[in-house]
Amino acid sequence: MTHSDNGFFNSFGGKYVAEVLRRPLDELEIAFKEAMADPSFIKELETIQRDYIGRETPLLFAETATKLLGGAQIYIKLEGLANTGAHKINNAIGQCLLAKRMGKKRIIAETGAGQHGVATAAACAKLGLDCTVYMGEVDVRRQQPNVAAMELYGAKVHAVTSGSRTLKDAVNEAMRDWAANPDTTHYVLGSALGPAPFPDMVREFQSVIGREVEKQVKERGLDVAAMIACVGGGSNSIGFFSPFIDKKEPALIGVEAGGIGDGVGENAARMTGNAGREGIMHGYKSRFLLDDDGQALPTRSISAGLDYCGIGPQLAALGCSGRIKFTSARDDEALNAVKFFAKNEGVLFAMESAHAGAEAIRLAPTLPKDKAIIINMSGRGDKDVFITSPVFRKTEWLSFLHSEIERLEANEDIHTAQIMGK
Ligand SMILES: *Cc1c(COP(=O)(O)O)cnc(C)c1O
Repeated sequence: MTHSDNGFFNSFGGKYVAEVLRRPLDELEIAFKEAMADPSFIKELETIQRDYIGRETPLLFAETATKLLGGAQIYIKLEGLANTGAHKINNAIGQCLLAKRMGKKRIIAETGAGQHGVATAAACAKLGLDCTVYMGEVDVRRQQPNVAAMELYGAKVHAVTSGSRTLKDAVNEAMRDWAANPDTTHYVLGSALGPAPFPDMVREFQSVIGREVEKQVKERGLDVAAMIACVGGGSNSIGFFSPFIDKKEPALIGVEAGGIGDGVGENAARMTGNAGREGIMHGYKSRFLLDDDGQALPTRSISAGLDYCGIGPQLAALGCSGRIKFTSARDDEALNAVKFFAKNEGVLFAMESAHAGAEAIRLAPTLPKDKAIIINMSGRGDKDVFITSPVFRKTEWLSFLHSEIERLEANEDIHTAQIMGK
């Protein structure tokens, strides 16, 4: 099941959209297929992957971690070394390049925590495209560092004031915009979900991760027992797993956000929790966290990127068929994994990726020493300083924030004037 069959992965997927979106989706599907069959497009994509994103990303042998855990050799795919700090840029660059080829000059995107917005804004800056990012008003307030980055890249951040003013409202608003402006505009969806052809397209643009791993594993002659990735919408995991899906080995393990516990609203476990069920939302059929009326349930995770009620349809199908094994890691386990790999490997995991790290810490000791396991570190943790510092060193962090506020309030005018040369 490496590709959809007419938009479906077994019973999941599809294209459950308003009539007005059928034509743009159909045109996108045709343009995508043509581009992927055109050697000049592939060459352009590979050049920008190399020179702008910084591919290929390294596969690091985590030697100290391996010794400490005393089992399988642990390897880390350092996707967080990609420009902008995470895997999301692979998809953003791919789709923006495709949009350019289709003659579209305007890009729109949705964003929750802001990571996809940042990647899309950067890709648009690089490729000279106009960029508008829809973001719930609540998220705009919570995620100012990412809003600032998007604006530096020249994007317009549109605060969405409808509904709960979070990610799902931003998606609705972006779809409305696309339906109104299909000829000039391309909608860069941020994960391997949404209506067809997005799940196939996002997987293909992210599959560069898995193809590099396949090559790196061969070069080093590793005997890989398992590959582990965190699963939000599912783009880093499906790209990482993609070349191995049709093989029996290695084991493919997806890690969901276990949040603070098993109760409803305490996690984002669509495949492993109690509240996951089949449903249709945002244009696709998959497994969602839903209440008895079919409404989205609240989710909870320390990592913004895993805090979502749906999962990509291909992952749902591969979970149901048993090819991908799902598990979850709680907030505290992810925080421990951040500490463990920072201290022992000098690698700072993003909170999302640390969920995969936590599973590796559990799994490695149960496997023999001649086997390898690979963690996809989907992003680096610099962005999480506002989340990790209040947990690890609350007093010092509070005093830092207070002093920053005092400094700004006292010096604001002088400072700005000096910097701007007035
Ligand atoms: C957004 C994000 C994720 C989750 O998204 P997927 O589509 O499941 O990959 C994971 N890791 C990082 C670093 C992210 O920014």
